[in-house]
Amino acid sequence: MTTAVSGPASGALRVDDAQLIGGEWVPAAGGETIEVINPATGEPLGRVPRGSAADVDAAVRAATAAFPAWRDTSATARAELITRWARLVREHETELDRLESQEVGRPHWGPPPMARMLDFIAGQADKVLGHSMPTHTPDVLGLTLREPYGVVGSVIPWNAPGPMFANDVGAAIAAGNTIVIKPAEDAPLTPLALAKLAMDAGIPAGVVNVVTGYGTEAGAAVPAHPGIDRMSFTGSPQTGSSVMAACAANLVPLHLELGGKSPQVILDDADLDAAIPAIVTGITLNTGQICAAGSRVVVDRSLHGEVVRRLAEHMKRVTVGPWHQDVRMGPLINAKQHDRVLNYVRLGQEEGAELVIGGGVPSGEEFERGFFVEPTLFDRVEPGMRIAQEEIFGPVLSVLPVGGEAEALTVANGTDYGLVASVWTRDVGRAVRMSRGLRAGQVAVNAALGAGVIGAPFGGYKRSGFGRTMSAEAVLDYTQVKAVSLRGTA
Ligand code: NAD
Repeated sequence: MTTAVSGPASGALRVDDAQLIGGEWVPAAGGETIEVINPATGEPLGRVPRGSAADVDAAVRAATAAFPAWRDTSATARAELITRWARLVREHETELDRLESQEVGRPHWGPPPMARMLDFIAGQADKVLGHSMPTHTPDVLGLTLREPYGVVGSVIPWNAPGPMFANDVGAAIAAGNTIVIKPAEDAPLTPLALAKLAMDAGIPAGVVNVVTGYGTEAGAAVPAHPGIDRMSFTGSPQTGSSVMAACAANLVPLHLELGGKSPQVILDDADLDAAIPAIVTGITLNTGQICAAGSRVVVDRSLHGEVVRRLAEHMKRVTVGPWHQDVRMGPLINAKQHDRVLNYVRLGQEEGAELVIGGGVPSGEEFERGFFVEPTLFDRVEPGMRIAQEEIFGPVLSVLPVGGEAEALTVANGTDYGLVASVWTRDVGRAVRMSRGLRAGQVAVNAALGAGVIGAPFGGYKRSGFGRTMSAEAVLDYTQVKAVSLRGTA
């Protein structure tokens, strides 16, 4: 069954070699295409257009033309269309999951979240409220209106292309904006499939436009385009900085989600039976390629030995292989990411950290053509080491022993990042102090990766970025406030 596993993805959701501009499935203006590969096998999955500034320009024009009618569509009608989109996404859940597994290389990790994200967002569309204000005289009404910006530009990464697409497109269009979105060159197929379902749901032409292509070509052209009114970027800090510079040149607001170096703080009264498996899952899910991955274990010295031993035991049990086998961890996305992770492993050893397990490439025929690495555990990591400071974006966990709560907080907060933080303790007072003290956009107590809260705002402190997604705030973030004063005539 090689084709079912690694061949081109399901036809129902695919329009081959085409991107979506103004409701039409079109090739790149330059006629070129990019190959998308299965990172577990190196085999081709399909081709997408190699979009450029000309394609972005066409998409921005289409989005600009579609904006007035979409803005003036009632919020209830917009919500209904997004709900219909969610229903189609749910109906095609299995195919979408398979498609994302193919292009990202991850094993099945449960029902895909896209449909429920869209349902949540649809529920926010008609709850975008302004307020009334007091006035100095009774013949005046003071109101605020929340209005869409116009055309949103968005660039998303490859690590969770389906959720990233649903989350960003859903929130932008729920608020009445239209959007031009550039998925990552490594994983554009799930976004294109979701865009097709948006069209099938009846979302009007030009409201959602997808331009595929490389970051330095199509990607850079999005924030540089003068027709973009609001920008969103998720990816590396370096690219985020260049996107922000382009937005600065056009004086366009943006939000940025740039990753993290999230701490898992284990205090001396922690429930290790709960903490250890959650921490191992947190760093091996999606092969560690999750911005929220808890990559630093900041552990009280009294538990240090036991924690390292139990983490190693659990990590050894994480099965690795091509996504379609019954494994828990797949390959990394591409050769660049493979080199990057292995370089960090070398660097950690040079810096003097103790490699406990992993650090290499698994051997065997099934690993020969994919970008596989072993789950890796470093002990005795010092806070100043690069492996403790920089986002590796792979299944590499660093253990940093500390003495007590105060030092744990200092070490946990001691990086440029501030996306997510976890603390493991049975003591409510400590939980409260750590929740307040941790400098991160999300704090989880006795849980990793958000603990399944519905509608929790997601976004960074410090260099992890700014702006909040995945919540009611995400839709509001795509609106601007207008104050209206209304004086009645005599
Ligand atoms: P990247 O920032 O280069 O790519 C992310 C997206 O930006 C892709 O769609 C890409 O095509 C686009 N892009 C690239 N250059 C661009 C430019 N000049 N202008 C506009 N868009 C551009 O990230 P990467 O190289 O794919 O990954 C490198 C590192 O970034 C990872 O190792 C990881 O640390 C981090 N990362 C973080 C996240 C996250 O969720 N925060 C996601 C992916 C990668």
